[in-house]
Amino acid sequence: MKQILFLLATLFVVSCNTAQSTKGVSMTRTEYAKTITAEDLKTHLYIVASDEMEGRDTGSKGNNMTANYLRDFYKKNGIASPDNAEDYFQAIDASYFSRMKEPKPSQNVLGFIKGSEKPEEVIVISAHYDHVGVDKDGNIYNGADDDGSGTVALLEMAEAFQEAVNDGNGPKRSILFLHVTGEEIGLYGSKYYTENPLFPLENTVCNLNTDMIGRIDPNKEDSPNYIYLIGSDKLSQDLHDLSEEVNKKYINIELDYTFNDENDPNRFYYRSDHYNFAKHNIPVIFYFNGVHGDYHKHTDTVEKIEYELMETRTRLIFQTAWEVANRKDRITADKL
Ligand SMILES: [Zn+2]
Repeated sequence: MKQILFLLATLFVVSCNTAQSTKGVSMTRTEYAKTITAEDLKTHLYIVASDEMEGRDTGSKGNNMTANYLRDFYKKNGIASPDNAEDYFQAIDASYFSRMKEPKPSQNVLGFIKGSEKPEEVIVISAHYDHVGVDKDGNIYNGADDDGSGTVALLEMAEAFQEAVNDGNGPKRSILFLHVTGEEIGLYGSKYYTENPLFPLENTVCNLNTDMIGRIDPNKEDSPNYIYLIGSDKLSQDLHDLSEEVNKKYINIELDYTFNDENDPNRFYYRSDHYNFAKHNIPVIFYFNGVHGDYHKHTDTVEKIEYELMETRTRLIFQTAWEVANRKDRITADKL
């Protein structure tokens, strides 16, 4: 952080004449993306996926502790709560989780970056922070990849966007960072959000969903610089093309569409939170590393995460969101 502040100060001094922003800071989108680092992702993940969080089962003590950690992060970094949330939380009654044996109340957690020109148009970046808890033998399911990885990626992206806002370089459209609960029991938190949206769904431009971005699929060990994209072309050619262009220009990893195939037997398109947005005809992209030997096992732990790769993937999602938020025309569901 100190280094970045120093850099900002320097830029301010030497480049006032060419300032692009209202505050005279001409940091580029790539420089904001670079504030997302493997080291910071690791620091957050070692807390979110620690034994103390007890596997983050929906409504459990560890699930609530994680929610508090996320809220504290947003507060500390000056990132706003949406006006109509209850201090960064969207509470969900226990009765909504009736599918659980002993349902307890839980909450979605939300951070908000208000757009400078079209604040009513909102891009939702989501990840589920719940996982599956502790088994009868006392094994803690830390869920470092699933979906601790997406959870902490959102924190780093929000921080980067907030820095841009502080410099007067904030996005034109708004961005909602949505940490949903209840995913593992059936996509409940995202279902609840889309049934009770804090911003009208017709103004929700797209959903970029991040569920497992810290590991390597055993089938990709020979070419690990990849991420699977699912759903990008289902509702919007526009979003798909933008995503491809952004990757080529700023990141350049392999975007693998293996699981985007309609006939893929895994049906991943229907299996994470973006689907609750897609079913309302909101364009989505699901970012996913694929399954591995530790998937939904108590061995999905923090020391197995590929932090450098996760950094690259998080920067890709950040750059894609930046483009959607700042381009002249809104992304539309042009394939409907
Ligand atoms: Zn997951």
